[in-house]
Amino acid sequence: MIRGPMERPLQQPLDVEQLAAQRSRLEREFPIAGFDRLRDNLARPDGEATIHVRFHAAGAYPALEGAVRARAWLVCQRCLSEFQAELESPVRVAFVGRDAELGRVPDEYDAVTAPGGRIELSDFVEEELLLALPLVPMHATPAECAHRVAGAGSDGDVPAAAGPVRRPFADLRDRLKR
Ligand SMILES: [Zn+2]
Repeated sequence: MIRGPMERPLQQPLDVEQLAAQRSRLEREFPIAGFDRLRDNLARPDGEATIHVRFHAAGAYPALEGAVRARAWLVCQRCLSEFQAELESPVRVAFVGRDAELGRVPDEYDAVTAPGGRIELSDFVEEELLLALPLVPMHATPAECAHRVAGAGSDGDVPAAAGPVRRPFADLRDRLKR
């Protein structure tokens, strides 16, 4: 277990070169409420997100592999009830110092720019979760929707017939392009 990096304040950028040289393992938890952009796409800003990765070298580049996970509150677009969805994004990323190097990482890695060999881990986690959001969130089966509608009112669910369909993801693609 590497102690130094684990004890850094969350706001301090991670030194991915050092972590890769040490082949460190890293696990962190972030409150979803702290992710401004992700929060805008959720029914409620509750819960935690976790990242669990191992660092290593991908050729000449520092890299990590693992997963980002969260249980997030979404609005089902079939029955308009809120429900908790498991978001999970496998990550396999190599870090380059400059955008010009993005094309040079091994094919099996996604390339991310890390100026000065550092990243803001919370930004990285939020970005991965934004990509993991379903474009049209829905309960897994219509039967689950029927169950939720039948129980509407008991826990603040929106009745199926009420109002226009909420589309919290309508502008997500534009956000991701920024
Ligand atoms: Zn539903």
